[in-house]
Amino acid sequence: MSTSTKRDNSEITEILEKIDMEYWLNREAVEYKVARGSRGVQLNIRECPVCGNSNWKVYMGQESGLGNCFHGDCEAKFSKWSFIKASLGDLNNREIVDHLKTIAEEQGFTVKRTEYKPAERGALKMPKSMTLPVGGRNLKYLQERGITNDTTKDFGLRYCQKGWFEYIDHEGERKLQNFSSRIIIPIYDLDGNLVSYQGRDITGTSEKKYLFPNGFASTGSIIFNGHNAFGYKDVCMGEGVFDVMAIHQAFQEDDALCNVAAIGSFGKHLSHGDESSQLAQLLKMKDAGLKRITIMWDGEKVALNDAVDAALMLHGVGFVARLARLPKDKDPNEVDAQVVRDAFLNARVINTTSAIKLKMELM
Ligand SMILES: [Zn+2]
Repeated sequence: MSTSTKRDNSEITEILEKIDMEYWLNREAVEYKVARGSRGVQLNIRECPVCGNSNWKVYMGQESGLGNCFHGDCEAKFSKWSFIKASLGDLNNREIVDHLKTIAEEQGFTVKRTEYKPAERGALKMPKSMTLPVGGRNLKYLQERGITNDTTKDFGLRYCQKGWFEYIDHEGERKLQNFSSRIIIPIYDLDGNLVSYQGRDITGTSEKKYLFPNGFASTGSIIFNGHNAFGYKDVCMGEGVFDVMAIHQAFQEDDALCNVAAIGSFGKHLSHGDESSQLAQLLKMKDAGLKRITIMWDGEKVALNDAVDAALMLHGVGFVARLARLPKDKDPNEVDAQVVRDAFLNARVINTTSAIKLKMELM
C-alpha cells in the first residue's frame, strides 16, 4: 500500500466518523424515524438500499452508523460507508469519497482531527414566514391539492417565501438551512409545544419534497395533530400531513363525523417500546378518553399488511382498532372526501381472528 493510499484511508475513516447519518438521511431525503430502544438511539429507515424492502426493516445506530436490515432474505449489515454506497447506487469508490467530503464540508468539518461534539440543538424557531391564508386568499398549491382555507387555518399552515432555519452545528458554528418557497407545516407534541415542522416544496423543482429543521426530525415519537385530538373518543389515523388534512376536511364536511379527529403517524409503522414512542402517546390519549382508532394508510397491499400489524398492536393494548381500506394505491389526499368517509364508515374491526382472515385475503 502506498503512503498516499494509507493517508487517504485514514482521512476517509476520519471523515466517516464525523458524518452525521441523520444529516445525511435528511439531505438525501431518505425516509427514517428516530427510535429509542434498549440499544440507544436508533435510526429506523424505511427502505433497505440492498434488498429494496420498504417495510422499515433497517435499523442503524444514530452515532455509530452501524446497522442491519432485518428483512428475512436480506439481513445486510451496514456501516456508514456501505449504507451510503448502497444508497447512491452506481458511484465508484472515488466518487463516494468525493461525496463524503462534500457532506463533511456541509456539516462544517475541515478534514483534520478535531474533537467530536454532539449537535447542540438550540431552540427551534420557524423560518421567516406568513400565516395562511393571506387576506382570505390561499396559495395556489394548496387550492390545487384541495385544501380549504378552514383546513389551512386548523393546521396553522404558513408560507415561507424566503427564509432560513438557524442552528448550531457539531462544531458550534452557526448554520443556515434554506426553507424558501416552502409551506411550513408545524408539528406539535401532545401538550401543544412546537417540536418540529415540515417544509413542503411548492416549486416542484427541489430534490427534497419535504424538509425538516436540522436535528428536529424526530417524528418517530410524535402523533401528528395529536394535540388537537386530545380528549377525543374516536380518531382516524392517516400517514403523512396532507393525508391527515384530507381526512380532517372530509370529516368536517359531515355532521356525523365531525367529532372524529384526524391524526397522523408519519409513516406506515407505529413506534413502540418506551415512553417517547408513538404508542406511548396514544396511550396518553387513551387516558384522556380515546377508545377507537381507525387506521387509514394507503390502499396498497404492503401498507394494508402493515396497518393490520399496527391495528393488532393497538387492539393488544385495549383500543378498538379498525382498518379502513381506500381504493388500491390511493391515499386520502388523492380521493374524493366521500371516498374517505365511506372508507371510514366501512372500516373493519381488527382482532386476532379478523387479522388472520384479512392477511389471508391480502396474500
Ligand atoms: Zn434488506
